[in-house]
Amino acid sequence: MELLELERRLIGFDTVSAHSNLALIEFLEGRLKALGLRVELFPNADGNKANLLATLGAPDTPGLMLSGHTDVVPVEGQAWSSDPFTLTPGDGRFYGRGTADMKSFLAQVLLAVQAVRHRRLRLPLHVAATYDEEVGCLGAGDMLRQLAAAGRMLPRCAVIGEPTGFQVFSMHKGMCRVRVGIKGVEGHSSKPNMGANALYPAARIIQQLAELEAERRARRSYEDAFELPYTTVNAAVVHGGTAFNIIPNRCDLEFEFRTMPGEDPDYVLRQVQGFVDEVVLPDLRRQHGDTDIRVEKVMQGAPMLTPPGTEIEALALELTGRSRSGAAPYYTEGALYNAAGIPTVICGPGDIDQAHRANEFITAEQLQAGLPFLGRLIERVCL
Ligand SMILES: [Zn+2]
Repeated sequence: MELLELERRLIGFDTVSAHSNLALIEFLEGRLKALGLRVELFPNADGNKANLLATLGAPDTPGLMLSGHTDVVPVEGQAWSSDPFTLTPGDGRFYGRGTADMKSFLAQVLLAVQAVRHRRLRLPLHVAATYDEEVGCLGAGDMLRQLAAAGRMLPRCAVIGEPTGFQVFSMHKGMCRVRVGIKGVEGHSSKPNMGANALYPAARIIQQLAELEAERRARRSYEDAFELPYTTVNAAVVHGGTAFNIIPNRCDLEFEFRTMPGEDPDYVLRQVQGFVDEVVLPDLRRQHGDTDIRVEKVMQGAPMLTPPGTEIEALALELTGRSRSGAAPYYTEGALYNAAGIPTVICGPGDIDQAHRANEFITAEQLQAGLPFLGRLIERVCL
């Protein structure tokens, strides 16, 4: 199968994260088995999704892993000019959901594997395809846990083909999502002394978030690599209150922060928790004893920082003709792979600016450019 036909098939699977990815996984499994790879599937707990890990070459020997996620973001509410799940050519581009993020890489990997399937490999070549990357890198985390539980050897190094336009990214920020639940006491608005308004503590916490971001903005690092070289904070969602004459008995607040590599990933959270415990909650309790504030971490991912001087980073820079690696402006599975001890770089076809939007596309040039890159990469590591 040629590149465009593979691309057309991959884009045709509706693998929005809320849906099953099994049809796509079965397609990849069939293709990779036909090329002589050993293929393992790692189903999720519900059995409606799976990760795939395939190996060409010696079993249980750490090799080069080429990794991509199979899921894509939703298309609802976006003004597409063509069917998002039908690969549509036009003006030297190919449109479709996942063309940039990141099915083109998977198509390129299939062809790159095909090209070396009869060669004798010094080190094995692994292909990983994961689920639920777009909703928190869940699939890659599950696969790593299952591999660790089975005492399996992990790959020697990895390249994740997220859309970087074949720049090399070796780091990115971490992320942490936090929910704050404030319990006040309701009452008639004419008698504020009888209740405890849940909105005022929320306002104080939101103000603190703004101050924390200002404080972090003054502490910059890796300025060459990041567009915003500091930890960012975002007050994201507030729910509270029902009517103008009722003292609100509840306010729920959500915020997130994105921590720079090398910084304490819990710093912002600890500052908020400390402010709540020492200042905001005692003040609220003085108004009424039947009040509470709960700060709960919903999800956290560590920053990515590839250890300096790794073979895979040097090689990716050499093969792409870049002088130094940069930082991804988004979260990736690379943080998990690095944390598991697999030196990983992010490098793949397409432009992140096209991802997650209506009329997502990849240029014909970027679609073609993956094959020589992957061919040379495999040659240098595996042959
Ligand atoms: Zn992606």
